[in-house]
Amino acid sequence: MPAFIPPQRLLLGPGPSNVAQRVLEALAQPSIGHLDPRFVAMMDETKALLRRTFLTDNALTVPVSAPGSAGMETCFVNLIEPGDTVVVCQNGVFGGRMRENVLRLGATPVMVQDDFGQPVDLDKARAALKANPGAKALAFVHAETSTGARSDAQALCALAREFGALSIVDAVTSLAGIELRVDDWGCDAIYSGSQKCLSAPAGLSPVSLGERAVATLKARKTPVQSWFLDLGLVMAYWQGEGARTYHHTAPINMLYALHEALTAVSEEGLEQAWARHFANHLRLCEGLQAIGLELFVAQSARLPQLNAVRIPEGIEDLPVRKRLLDEFNIEIGAGLGPLAGKIWRIGLMGTNSRPEAVDAVLTALSSVLRR
Ligand SMILES: *Cc1c(COP(=O)(O)O)cnc(C)c1O
Repeated sequence: MPAFIPPQRLLLGPGPSNVAQRVLEALAQPSIGHLDPRFVAMMDETKALLRRTFLTDNALTVPVSAPGSAGMETCFVNLIEPGDTVVVCQNGVFGGRMRENVLRLGATPVMVQDDFGQPVDLDKARAALKANPGAKALAFVHAETSTGARSDAQALCALAREFGALSIVDAVTSLAGIELRVDDWGCDAIYSGSQKCLSAPAGLSPVSLGERAVATLKARKTPVQSWFLDLGLVMAYWQGEGARTYHHTAPINMLYALHEALTAVSEEGLEQAWARHFANHLRLCEGLQAIGLELFVAQSARLPQLNAVRIPEGIEDLPVRKRLLDEFNIEIGAGLGPLAGKIWRIGLMGTNSRPEAVDAVLTALSSVLRR
């Protein structure tokens, strides 16, 4: 077998985004033992960098050793017990996965449904919490990558508190791309992913739990169903004072990469990164308008890092994406579920949120559409 040499692509889909050279170089450093004191010190720095990126002081802030979906599962499996009720807001594909998590835990999801492309409706969420006193949590997706809609995470977290419920927040696509303030907004449990606006390789899921969530975890009546994702066990490895106990072998080189990617975010500054994502989004919107393409989401709810574009009447989805990939080495995303064939998803995440990437996809799209 010859060595696998991947093509050079510009990844402008829903994630992964391109990994910066400095992060690839970190990934290629020699492996050391996962209990080596130098590695343990690097883990502590990574936790500190994650806290800085989430804007939180939460002690329980770690990267779970698996992709964003495992971060989702970590939050649900640790906080929800059989018989609990969870209000789940669904305005896209990922809210549906939250519902699956709740069901599989033997708990009851109460769904708050909004059309794909709309943000979560606060009044409906409030009505659901009112109608279900004692609901354990309110779960929602901050940045719905399947539609490009942004929901008001600050208001939803406040709403959860008002009703004594925990907030469970999907920040897989929002972290480092748009404003997100875990402590100021009172997010109780939040998870993200390494391959979206952090521009690290896929495979790690930063998770952070606040005091109320930790108290809920400690008060559980039943053991956490998942051995691997049980934060009580995981933390003995990530936090154990003095003696850290082996739980699983951390993905050592992946953590070098995450450390480097978080360092890059910290060097740029979070607010600068948010502003950059917004500026390049505006550049893309102008260019799309100039070539006669429309965005799917109302301006007030658009995510700068994930732009859903309506496929014009009479244009077929797949041949266009295939040409972008074959002729221009540019990947964009297809629509999911009810939006399949109706939208394209142009991601401008992390290192890919820059004017050259915007111009490249605009040039390529207009060339393909002209033909
Ligand atoms: C990508 C994504 C996930 C899942 O992350 P994986 O790393 O693919 O497991 C979950 N939620 C949202 C909003 C996402 O965009």
